[in-house]
Amino acid sequence: MGQTARTTKLLLDLSERDQGGANRDKRQYLEETVTILDAARAFYLDFFLAHPDKLMERVEVISKQTGEVSERLISADKLLTWAEFQTVETAEHPDPLPEWNFSQAFPAFPNRYRRSVIKDVIGKARGYLTTLLKWQCSGKKKGKPDIPTAANHPALYAGTFTLELEVLDLRKSFVRLKVYTGLEWVWAHYPTVYNRYFERRRAEEGWETESPRLILGKHAAAIHFLQSKTIKARKIVESKRDPDLVTVAVDLNVKQLAVITVRQHGKIIETRFVSDQGLDQHRYRHLRRVAKKQWQSGKPVKGERSNRQLWAHIRRHNLDTAHQTARAIVEVCEQYSGCVLLFERLRTIKSKGGSKSRRLNRKQANQLKGKINQLAREKAYAKGVVSVEVNPHGTSQYCARCGGKGVRFTYQAGQRVSGKGGKFFFCSTCHYECHADFNASVNVHHSFFRELHWQPRVQPSG
Ligand SMILES: [Zn+2]
Repeated sequence: MGQTARTTKLLLDLSERDQGGANRDKRQYLEETVTILDAARAFYLDFFLAHPDKLMERVEVISKQTGEVSERLISADKLLTWAEFQTVETAEHPDPLPEWNFSQAFPAFPNRYRRSVIKDVIGKARGYLTTLLKWQCSGKKKGKPDIPTAANHPALYAGTFTLELEVLDLRKSFVRLKVYTGLEWVWAHYPTVYNRYFERRRAEEGWETESPRLILGKHAAAIHFLQSKTIKARKIVESKRDPDLVTVAVDLNVKQLAVITVRQHGKIIETRFVSDQGLDQHRYRHLRRVAKKQWQSGKPVKGERSNRQLWAHIRRHNLDTAHQTARAIVEVCEQYSGCVLLFERLRTIKSKGGSKSRRLNRKQANQLKGKINQLAREKAYAKGVVSVEVNPHGTSQYCARCGGKGVRFTYQAGQRVSGKGGKFFFCSTCHYECHADFNASVNVHHSFFRELHWQPRVQPSG
Protein backbone atom coordinates (compact mmCIF):
# COMPACT_ATOMS: atom_id res chain seq x y z
CA MET A 1 0.00 0.00 0.00
CA GLY A 2 1.28 3.41 -0.87
CA GLN A 3 0.24 6.90 -1.73
CA THR A 4 0.65 8.87 -4.88
CA ALA A 5 -0.25 12.48 -5.56
CA ARG A 6 -0.80 14.70 -8.54
CA THR A 7 -2.00 18.21 -9.28
CA THR A 8 -4.88 18.94 -11.60
CA LYS A 9 -5.16 22.53 -12.76
CA LEU A 10 -8.22 24.58 -13.60
CA LEU A 11 -7.53 27.90 -15.31
CA LEU A 12 -9.69 30.88 -14.53
CA ASP A 13 -10.81 32.84 -17.55
CA LEU A 14 -9.30 36.30 -17.16
CA SER A 15 -9.91 37.44 -20.72
CA GLU A 16 -11.96 40.59 -21.29
CA ARG A 17 -15.58 40.61 -20.21
CA ASP A 18 -16.95 40.73 -23.78
CA GLN A 19 -14.97 37.58 -24.56
CA GLY A 20 -16.61 35.73 -21.69
CA GLY A 21 -13.91 36.36 -19.10
CA ALA A 22 -13.97 37.86 -15.65
CA ASN A 23 -13.99 41.63 -15.56
CA ARG A 24 -11.03 43.71 -14.54
CA ASP A 25 -12.31 44.42 -11.03
CA LYS A 26 -12.53 40.76 -10.30
CA ARG A 27 -8.97 40.26 -11.43
CA GLN A 28 -8.02 43.04 -9.03
CA TYR A 29 -9.89 41.29 -6.21
CA LEU A 30 -7.74 38.21 -6.64
CA GLU A 31 -4.62 40.30 -6.20
CA GLU A 32 -6.08 42.05 -3.16
CA THR A 33 -6.96 38.68 -1.66
CA VAL A 34 -3.46 37.30 -2.11
CA THR A 35 -2.01 40.50 -0.64
CA ILE A 36 -4.18 40.53 2.46
CA LEU A 37 -3.62 36.81 3.07
CA ASP A 38 0.14 37.38 2.85
CA ALA A 39 -0.20 40.23 5.34
CA ALA A 40 -2.17 38.00 7.71
CA ARG A 41 0.50 35.34 7.36
CA ALA A 42 3.17 37.90 8.19
CA PHE A 43 1.17 38.84 11.31
CA TYR A 44 1.06 35.27 12.58
CA LEU A 45 4.64 34.57 11.60
CA ASP A 46 5.72 37.48 13.81
CA PHE A 47 3.35 36.31 16.52
CA PHE A 48 4.74 32.78 16.63
CA LEU A 49 8.36 33.88 16.40
CA ALA A 50 7.65 36.14 19.39
CA HIS A 51 6.46 33.04 21.29
CA PRO A 52 9.09 30.42 20.44
CA ASP A 53 8.64 28.51 23.72
CA LYS A 54 4.98 27.84 22.99
CA LEU A 55 5.74 26.90 19.40
CA MET A 56 8.26 24.27 20.50
CA GLU A 57 6.42 23.22 23.68
CA ARG A 58 6.60 19.54 24.50
CA VAL A 59 3.47 17.97 25.87
CA GLU A 60 2.77 14.63 27.50
CA VAL A 61 0.67 12.22 25.53
CA ILE A 62 -0.91 9.09 26.92
CA SER A 63 -1.22 6.24 24.47
CA LYS A 64 -4.79 4.93 24.28
CA GLN A 65 -3.58 1.41 23.58
CA THR A 66 -0.78 0.90 26.07
CA GLY A 67 -1.43 3.67 28.58
CA GLU A 68 2.22 4.72 28.28
CA VAL A 69 3.09 8.36 28.75
CA SER A 70 5.40 9.94 26.21
CA GLU A 71 6.52 13.43 25.32
CA ARG A 72 5.83 14.99 21.98
CA LEU A 73 5.84 18.37 20.24
CA ILE A 74 2.54 20.23 20.74
CA SER A 75 0.16 19.50 17.86
CA ALA A 76 -0.67 22.05 15.17
CA ASP A 77 -4.35 21.87 16.13
CA LYS A 78 -3.59 22.75 19.76
CA LEU A 79 -1.35 25.61 18.65
CA LEU A 80 -4.07 26.89 16.36
CA THR A 81 -6.58 26.97 19.21
CA TRP A 82 -4.05 28.66 21.47
CA ALA A 83 -3.13 31.27 18.83
CA GLU A 84 -6.79 32.08 18.17
CA PHE A 85 -7.41 32.49 21.89
CA GLN A 86 -4.52 34.95 22.14
CA THR A 87 -5.35 37.02 19.06
CA VAL A 88 -9.05 36.85 18.19
CA GLU A 89 -11.92 38.71 19.84
CA THR A 90 -14.97 36.59 20.60
CA ALA A 91 -18.09 37.10 22.67
CA GLU A 92 -16.74 34.83 25.43
CA HIS A 93 -13.23 36.17 25.19
CA PRO A 94 -13.40 39.86 24.26
CA ASP A 95 -9.81 40.79 25.18
CA PRO A 96 -7.00 39.19 23.21
CA LEU A 97 -3.40 40.29 23.78
CA PRO A 98 -3.49 44.06 23.07
CA GLU A 99 -0.35 44.06 20.92
CA TRP A 100 -1.49 41.00 18.99
CA ASN A 101 -5.13 41.81 18.29
CA PHE A 102 -5.79 40.21 14.92
CA SER A 103 -9.49 41.11 14.94
CA GLN A 104 -8.62 44.81 15.04
CA ALA A 105 -5.81 44.59 12.50
CA PHE A 106 -7.86 42.52 10.06
CA PRO A 107 -11.57 43.24 10.58
CA ALA A 108 -14.10 40.70 9.28
CA PHE A 109 -11.38 38.34 8.14
CA PRO A 110 -13.07 35.01 7.19
CA ASN A 111 -12.46 32.31 9.81
CA ARG A 112 -11.53 29.64 7.30
CA TYR A 113 -8.86 31.84 5.72
CA ARG A 114 -7.52 32.77 9.15
CA ARG A 115 -7.17 29.13 10.11
CA SER A 116 -5.45 28.17 6.87
CA VAL A 117 -3.06 31.09 7.32
CA ILE A 118 -2.21 30.04 10.89
CA LYS A 119 -1.61 26.44 9.85
CA ASP A 120 0.67 27.57 7.00
CA VAL A 121 2.69 29.67 9.37
CA ILE A 122 3.11 27.04 12.10
CA GLY A 123 5.06 24.84 9.70
CA LYS A 124 7.20 27.69 8.44
CA ALA A 125 8.00 29.09 11.89
CA ARG A 126 8.87 25.68 13.33
CA GLY A 127 11.11 24.84 10.42
CA TYR A 128 12.90 28.15 10.88
CA LEU A 129 13.39 27.70 14.65
CA THR A 130 14.76 24.20 14.15
CA THR A 131 17.35 25.28 11.59
CA LEU A 132 18.20 28.35 13.68
CA LEU A 133 18.86 26.16 16.71
CA LYS A 134 21.06 23.82 14.68
CA TRP A 135 22.97 26.79 13.33
CA GLN A 136 23.50 28.23 16.84
CA CYS A 137 24.71 24.85 18.13
CA SER A 138 27.13 24.48 15.22
CA GLY A 139 28.92 27.68 16.31
CA LYS A 140 29.41 28.78 12.71
CA LYS A 141 29.44 32.46 11.85
CA LYS A 142 28.23 32.14 8.30
CA GLY A 143 24.97 30.68 7.07
CA LYS A 144 22.52 32.14 9.58
CA PRO A 145 19.09 30.99 8.35
CA ASP A 146 16.81 33.67 6.94
CA ILE A 147 13.45 34.41 8.49
CA PRO A 148 10.89 32.68 6.26
CA THR A 149 8.77 34.75 3.92
CA ALA A 150 5.07 35.07 4.55
CA ALA A 151 4.08 34.74 0.90
CA ASN A 152 2.27 31.60 -0.09
CA HIS A 153 -0.40 30.48 -2.50
CA PRO A 154 -3.72 30.69 -0.65
CA ALA A 155 -5.27 27.38 0.30
CA LEU A 156 -8.99 27.27 -0.41
CA TYR A 157 -11.16 25.38 2.03
CA ALA A 158 -14.88 24.82 2.08
CA GLY A 159 -16.28 28.12 3.24
CA THR A 160 -14.03 30.18 0.99
CA PHE A 161 -14.50 28.27 -2.22
CA THR A 162 -17.08 26.32 -4.22
CA LEU A 163 -16.87 24.87 -7.65
CA GLU A 164 -20.07 25.13 -9.65
CA LEU A 165 -20.34 22.96 -12.66
CA GLU A 166 -23.45 23.25 -14.75
CA VAL A 167 -24.41 19.68 -15.31
CA LEU A 168 -25.75 20.06 -18.83
CA ASP A 169 -23.13 22.31 -20.29
CA LEU A 170 -19.67 21.85 -18.90
CA ARG A 171 -18.48 24.86 -20.81
CA LYS A 172 -20.28 27.03 -18.31
CA SER A 173 -18.43 26.26 -15.14
CA PHE A 174 -17.63 28.75 -12.43
CA VAL A 175 -15.69 28.89 -9.25
CA ARG A 176 -17.15 30.88 -6.44
CA LEU A 177 -14.46 32.45 -4.30
CA LYS A 178 -14.48 34.51 -1.18
CA VAL A 179 -12.32 37.47 -2.19
CA TYR A 180 -11.19 40.77 -0.74
CA THR A 181 -12.12 43.86 -2.72
CA GLY A 182 -9.73 46.12 -0.84
CA LEU A 183 -12.58 47.20 1.49
CA GLU A 184 -14.59 44.13 2.29
CA TRP A 185 -14.88 40.38 1.79
CA VAL A 186 -17.37 39.27 -0.85
CA TRP A 187 -18.23 36.17 -2.82
CA ALA A 188 -17.42 36.46 -6.51
CA HIS A 189 -17.96 34.13 -9.46
CA TYR A 190 -15.07 33.42 -11.81
CA PRO A 191 -15.62 31.72 -15.15
CA THR A 192 -13.18 28.91 -15.82
CA VAL A 193 -11.55 27.87 -19.05
CA TYR A 194 -13.39 24.81 -20.23
CA ASN A 195 -11.20 21.81 -20.07
CA ARG A 196 -12.26 18.26 -20.83
CA TYR A 197 -9.00 17.00 -19.39
CA PHE A 198 -9.79 18.60 -16.04
CA GLU A 199 -13.25 17.03 -15.95
CA ARG A 200 -11.87 13.61 -16.67
CA ARG A 201 -9.11 13.85 -14.06
CA ARG A 202 -11.41 15.25 -11.39
CA ALA A 203 -13.95 12.50 -11.82
CA GLU A 204 -11.42 9.69 -12.18
CA GLU A 205 -12.07 6.86 -9.77
CA GLY A 206 -9.81 6.26 -6.82
CA TRP A 207 -8.46 9.81 -6.65
CA GLU A 208 -9.32 11.92 -3.66
CA THR A 209 -9.25 15.67 -4.04
CA GLU A 210 -7.67 17.65 -1.24
CA SER A 211 -8.12 21.35 -0.59
CA PRO A 212 -7.24 23.35 -3.68
CA ARG A 213 -4.93 26.35 -3.89
CA LEU A 214 -5.30 29.59 -5.77
CA ILE A 215 -2.22 30.22 -7.90
CA LEU A 216 -2.06 33.77 -9.15
CA GLY A 217 0.52 34.51 -11.81
CA LYS A 218 1.35 37.68 -13.69
CA HIS A 219 -0.91 36.88 -16.60
CA ALA A 220 -3.00 33.96 -15.42
CA ALA A 221 -4.84 32.59 -12.45
CA ALA A 222 -5.58 28.97 -11.76
CA ILE A 223 -6.93 26.70 -9.09
CA HIS A 224 -4.63 23.78 -8.39
CA PHE A 225 -6.32 20.68 -7.02
CA LEU A 226 -4.05 18.33 -5.18
CA GLN A 227 -5.31 14.80 -5.66
CA SER A 228 -4.09 11.71 -3.92
CA LYS A 229 -4.67 8.05 -4.42
CA THR A 230 -4.00 4.99 -2.34
CA ILE A 231 -2.15 2.42 -4.37
CA LYS A 232 -2.57 -1.27 -3.76
CA ALA A 233 0.33 -3.10 -5.28
CA ARG A 234 2.08 -6.33 -4.52
CA LYS A 235 5.53 -6.26 -3.03
CA ILE A 236 8.28 -7.13 -5.46
CA VAL A 237 9.29 -10.24 -3.50
CA GLU A 238 5.72 -11.53 -3.76
CA SER A 239 5.58 -10.72 -7.47
CA LYS A 240 8.83 -12.57 -8.08
CA ARG A 241 7.31 -15.76 -6.65
CA ASP A 242 4.38 -15.60 -9.08
CA PRO A 243 5.08 -18.05 -11.94
CA ASP A 244 2.75 -16.10 -14.24
CA LEU A 245 4.38 -12.75 -13.54
CA VAL A 246 4.68 -10.41 -16.52
CA THR A 247 7.73 -8.16 -16.61
CA VAL A 248 7.93 -5.06 -18.79
CA ALA A 249 11.51 -3.98 -19.41
CA VAL A 250 12.59 -0.64 -20.82
CA ASP A 251 15.91 0.21 -22.37
CA LEU A 252 16.36 3.95 -22.78
CA ASN A 253 18.48 5.22 -25.63
CA VAL A 254 19.09 8.22 -27.79
CA LYS A 255 17.59 7.46 -31.20
CA GLN A 256 15.25 4.70 -30.08
CA LEU A 257 14.13 6.53 -26.96
CA ALA A 258 12.67 3.42 -25.41
CA VAL A 259 12.70 -0.21 -26.40
CA ILE A 260 9.98 -1.95 -24.42
CA THR A 261 9.92 -5.73 -24.16
CA VAL A 262 7.27 -7.75 -22.34
CA ARG A 263 8.12 -11.17 -20.98
CA GLN A 264 6.08 -13.98 -19.46
CA HIS A 265 6.99 -17.62 -18.83
CA GLY A 266 10.50 -16.88 -20.06
CA LYS A 267 9.37 -15.68 -23.49
CA ILE A 268 9.24 -12.22 -25.02
CA ILE A 269 5.57 -11.75 -25.87
CA GLU A 270 5.56 -8.14 -27.05
CA THR A 271 8.11 -5.59 -28.24
CA ARG A 272 7.63 -1.90 -28.84
CA PHE A 273 10.09 0.66 -30.13
CA VAL A 274 9.51 4.32 -29.31
CA SER A 275 11.51 6.38 -31.78
CA ASP A 276 12.66 9.91 -31.05
CA GLN A 277 11.16 11.09 -34.37
CA GLY A 278 14.32 12.96 -35.19
CA LEU A 279 14.45 14.86 -31.89
CA ASP A 280 18.16 14.22 -31.41
CA GLN A 281 19.03 15.70 -34.82
CA HIS A 282 16.63 18.56 -34.35
CA ARG A 283 18.08 19.40 -30.96
CA TYR A 284 21.61 19.11 -32.29
CA ARG A 285 20.88 21.68 -34.99
CA HIS A 286 19.54 24.09 -32.40
CA LEU A 287 22.46 23.52 -30.06
CA ARG A 288 24.88 24.21 -32.88
CA ARG A 289 23.24 27.59 -33.25
CA VAL A 290 23.39 28.15 -29.49
CA ALA A 291 27.10 27.27 -29.39
CA LYS A 292 27.83 29.44 -32.40
CA LYS A 293 26.16 32.43 -30.83
CA GLN A 294 27.92 31.96 -27.51
CA TRP A 295 31.19 31.86 -29.40
CA GLN A 296 30.30 35.10 -31.13
CA SER A 297 30.62 36.86 -27.77
CA GLY A 298 26.92 36.98 -27.13
CA LYS A 299 26.09 39.55 -29.77
CA PRO A 300 22.60 38.94 -31.06
CA VAL A 301 22.49 37.79 -34.64
CA LYS A 302 19.99 39.67 -36.73
CA GLY A 303 16.91 37.68 -37.64
CA GLU A 304 17.79 34.89 -35.23
CA ARG A 305 15.92 34.07 -32.10
CA SER A 306 17.71 34.70 -28.84
CA ASN A 307 19.54 31.91 -27.04
CA ARG A 308 17.06 32.07 -24.22
CA GLN A 309 14.22 31.36 -26.60
CA LEU A 310 16.17 28.56 -28.22
CA TRP A 311 16.84 26.97 -24.86
CA ALA A 312 13.19 27.29 -23.85
CA HIS A 313 12.24 25.66 -27.15
CA ILE A 314 14.67 22.78 -26.59
CA ARG A 315 13.51 22.22 -23.03
CA ARG A 316 9.85 22.26 -24.02
CA HIS A 317 10.48 19.83 -26.82
CA ASN A 318 12.38 17.51 -24.46
CA LEU A 319 9.62 17.59 -21.85
CA ASP A 320 6.87 16.87 -24.39
CA THR A 321 8.85 13.94 -25.69
CA ALA A 322 9.45 12.64 -22.17
CA HIS A 323 5.71 12.73 -21.43
CA GLN A 324 4.85 10.97 -24.69
CA THR A 325 7.43 8.26 -24.17
CA ALA A 326 6.38 7.71 -20.56
CA ARG A 327 2.76 7.39 -21.69
CA ALA A 328 3.74 4.80 -24.30
CA ILE A 329 5.52 2.78 -21.61
CA VAL A 330 2.56 2.92 -19.25
CA GLU A 331 0.15 1.98 -22.06
CA VAL A 332 2.05 -1.27 -22.48
CA CYS A 333 2.00 -1.91 -18.72
CA GLU A 334 -1.75 -1.36 -18.56
CA GLN A 335 -2.35 -4.36 -20.81
CA TYR A 336 -0.79 -6.72 -18.26
CA SER A 337 -2.35 -6.38 -14.85
CA GLY A 338 -0.03 -7.13 -11.96
CA CYS A 339 3.08 -6.63 -14.10
CA VAL A 340 6.34 -5.17 -12.85
CA LEU A 341 8.10 -2.38 -14.74
CA LEU A 342 11.87 -2.74 -15.05
CA PHE A 343 14.40 -0.01 -15.75
CA GLU A 344 18.15 -0.03 -15.76
CA ARG A 345 19.77 2.16 -13.19
CA LEU A 346 20.64 5.16 -15.31
CA ARG A 347 24.06 5.38 -16.80
CA THR A 348 25.12 8.70 -18.15
CA ILE A 349 26.39 8.82 -21.68
CA LYS A 350 29.90 10.18 -21.44
CA SER A 351 30.04 13.59 -23.01
CA LYS A 352 33.77 13.95 -23.45
CA GLY A 353 35.09 14.56 -26.93
CA GLY A 354 33.35 16.10 -29.88
CA SER A 355 32.33 19.67 -30.47
CA LYS A 356 30.70 21.83 -27.84
CA SER A 357 27.27 21.44 -29.39
CA ARG A 358 27.75 17.68 -29.47
CA ARG A 359 28.60 17.65 -25.77
CA LEU A 360 25.61 19.86 -25.00
CA ASN A 361 23.42 17.51 -26.97
CA ARG A 362 24.66 14.47 -25.00
CA LYS A 363 23.85 16.30 -21.80
CA GLN A 364 20.33 17.01 -23.03
CA ALA A 365 19.90 13.38 -24.06
CA ASN A 366 20.90 12.26 -20.56
CA GLN A 367 18.44 14.65 -19.00
CA LEU A 368 15.73 13.35 -21.30
CA LYS A 369 16.45 9.77 -20.23
CA GLY A 370 16.21 10.77 -16.60
CA LYS A 371 12.93 12.55 -17.20
CA ILE A 372 11.39 9.62 -19.09
CA ASN A 373 12.43 7.29 -16.29
CA GLN A 374 10.93 9.53 -13.61
CA LEU A 375 7.67 10.24 -15.44
CA ALA A 376 7.12 6.63 -16.47
CA ARG A 377 7.61 5.43 -12.89
CA GLU A 378 5.19 8.05 -11.56
CA LYS A 379 2.55 7.41 -14.20
CA ALA A 380 2.89 3.64 -13.81
CA TYR A 381 2.64 3.82 -10.03
CA ALA A 382 -0.59 5.80 -10.33
CA LYS A 383 -1.94 2.78 -12.22
CA GLY A 384 -0.73 0.41 -9.50
CA VAL A 385 2.36 -0.75 -11.40
CA VAL A 386 5.51 -0.93 -9.30
CA SER A 387 8.85 -0.33 -10.96
CA VAL A 388 12.27 -1.73 -10.15
CA GLU A 389 15.73 -0.54 -11.10
CA VAL A 390 18.09 -3.27 -12.11
CA ASN A 391 21.85 -3.38 -12.35
CA PRO A 392 22.83 -2.15 -15.81
CA HIS A 393 26.07 -4.12 -15.83
CA GLY A 394 26.66 -5.80 -19.15
CA THR A 395 23.17 -5.39 -20.58
CA SER A 396 24.51 -4.00 -23.83
CA GLN A 397 27.66 -6.12 -24.18
CA TYR A 398 26.34 -9.60 -23.59
CA CYS A 399 24.04 -11.81 -25.61
CA ALA A 400 20.46 -12.00 -24.37
CA ARG A 401 20.15 -15.53 -25.73
CA CYS A 402 23.24 -17.29 -24.42
CA GLY A 403 25.02 -14.75 -22.23
CA GLY A 404 28.16 -14.76 -24.37
CA LYS A 405 30.10 -11.62 -25.19
CA GLY A 406 29.12 -9.88 -28.39
CA VAL A 407 29.94 -6.91 -30.58
CA ARG A 408 28.01 -3.96 -31.97
CA PHE A 409 28.02 -3.32 -35.66
CA THR A 410 26.32 -1.43 -38.46
CA TYR A 411 25.78 -2.22 -42.12
CA GLN A 412 27.65 -0.03 -44.56
CA ALA A 413 27.03 -0.77 -48.22
CA GLY A 414 25.85 -4.26 -47.28
CA GLN A 415 29.02 -4.94 -45.26
CA ARG A 416 29.16 -5.43 -41.51
CA VAL A 417 31.28 -2.80 -39.84
CA SER A 418 31.83 -3.39 -36.14
CA GLY A 419 32.21 -0.47 -33.81
CA LYS A 420 30.98 1.08 -30.62
CA GLY A 421 27.53 2.55 -30.88
CA GLY A 422 26.56 0.24 -33.74
CA LYS A 423 22.88 -0.29 -34.32
CA PHE A 424 23.01 -4.10 -34.25
CA PHE A 425 24.34 -6.76 -31.93
CA PHE A 426 26.19 -9.90 -32.91
CA CYS A 427 27.02 -12.70 -30.47
CA SER A 428 30.37 -14.31 -31.12
CA THR A 429 29.33 -17.42 -29.15
CA CYS A 430 25.95 -18.40 -30.61
CA HIS A 431 25.99 -16.08 -33.64
CA TYR A 432 22.71 -14.50 -32.60
CA GLU A 433 22.09 -11.22 -34.40
CA CYS A 434 19.52 -8.58 -33.49
CA HIS A 435 18.88 -4.88 -32.88
CA ALA A 436 21.30 -3.80 -30.16
CA ASP A 437 18.70 -1.94 -28.10
CA PHE A 438 16.35 -4.92 -28.26
CA ASN A 439 19.15 -7.13 -26.95
CA ALA A 440 19.74 -4.71 -24.07
CA SER A 441 16.03 -4.55 -23.26
CA VAL A 442 15.77 -8.36 -23.08
CA ASN A 443 18.84 -8.40 -20.84
CA VAL A 444 17.04 -6.13 -18.38
CA HIS A 445 14.65 -9.04 -17.66
CA HIS A 446 17.65 -11.33 -17.15
CA SER A 447 19.19 -8.83 -14.78
CA PHE A 448 15.95 -8.68 -12.75
CA PHE A 449 15.75 -12.47 -12.41
CA ARG A 450 19.56 -12.73 -12.05
CA GLU A 451 19.56 -15.44 -14.65
CA LEU A 452 22.64 -15.06 -16.73
CA HIS A 453 25.40 -13.58 -14.60
CA TRP A 454 26.96 -12.99 -17.97
CA GLN A 455 28.27 -16.51 -18.18
CA PRO A 456 27.29 -18.78 -21.07
CA ARG A 457 24.07 -20.50 -20.05
CA VAL A 458 24.20 -23.11 -22.79
CA GLN A 459 27.30 -24.67 -24.20
CA PRO A 460 28.12 -23.30 -27.64
CA SER A 461 27.61 -25.92 -30.33
CA GLY A 462 30.75 -25.61 -32.35
ZN1 LIG B 1 24.69 -15.68 -27.86
